[in-house]
Amino acid sequence: MRWPGQGVTACGVGEREWAPLAGACWYPVDLEAKGAIEVTRWREGRRETRRVIVARYPYAEQRLKVPDTMVDLSPSDQARVARENARIVPLWRLEGPARFALPLAAPLADLVPHGRFGARRVFNGKPKSPHGGEDYRAAPGTPVLAPADGVVALAEAHFFAGNGVYLDHGGGLVTMLFHLSRIDVEAGQQVRRGQVVGAVGATGRVTGPHLHFGARWHGARVDPALLLAAHPAVADLP
Ligand SMILES: [Zn+2]
Repeated sequence: MRWPGQGVTACGVGEREWAPLAGACWYPVDLEAKGAIEVTRWREGRRETRRVIVARYPYAEQRLKVPDTMVDLSPSDQARVARENARIVPLWRLEGPARFALPLAAPLADLVPHGRFGARRVFNGKPKSPHGGEDYRAAPGTPVLAPADGVVALAEAHFFAGNGVYLDHGGGLVTMLFHLSRIDVEAGQQVRRGQVVGAVGATGRVTGPHLHFGARWHGARVDPALLLAAHPAVADLP
C-alpha cells in the first residue's frame, strides 16, 4: 500500500519506523498478514493513522515431489536450518538510506515465470510454508543480475535455498536470489544494478533448475513481481 502526501517525513507500523520513498509512505503487507493493520505517517509535525483491513488472498496450491530427506529433516539438518535462520532473521530488521528506485531491474535477461508467489506448497504430500518468492525458469548457468544497487548481506549455501545471495538495497528492502549453481559475490561487497551476482542452478530444495527471486520490504514478504512492474498494482490510501 502507498499513502501519498506532501511533506511526509516518516512512516511506520507498530514499533517500526522508516523513511518515505519518492515522497510517499509505502506499507508492504506480508504474505500471511490478515486482519486489521494500523499504519502511521508523520506529516508537517503531526502523526496521522489509518486502519487497513487485510483479507486473505486465495493463493493456489502447489504439489511438489522432492527427496524425503528434504521434507522430513534429520536432527542434524534441523540444527543446520536453525543455524541458517539465525543468520537470516536479523536481515529483516535492516533499514537505512534507500539505494533503489521502483521498478527494480529484472534478475534475469529473460523472465519466464513458473512458480507463483504465495502458493500453498505441499511437499511429498505434506503441507509446508507458503512460497515466499517468484520462480523463473532458466537454463543452468544463466547469469543472475542484481535488481538494484546495494551491498551483499549474505552469500552462502543454505539447506533450502541452496547457494543464495541476499542483497541489502537500503530503505528496508532485501532481495534474495536462490538455488544458484555458483555465487560470484561475497558478503560485504557493493553491487550495482544489473551486475552479475551468480548463475542459475538447482541447489537446495528444488525440483529442477530455476531462479527463486524473493523480496522482504520492512520485514514483510512481498511479491517481487510487483516491484518489477512499471506500474505496480498498488493500493493508494485516501
Ligand atoms: Zn521458489
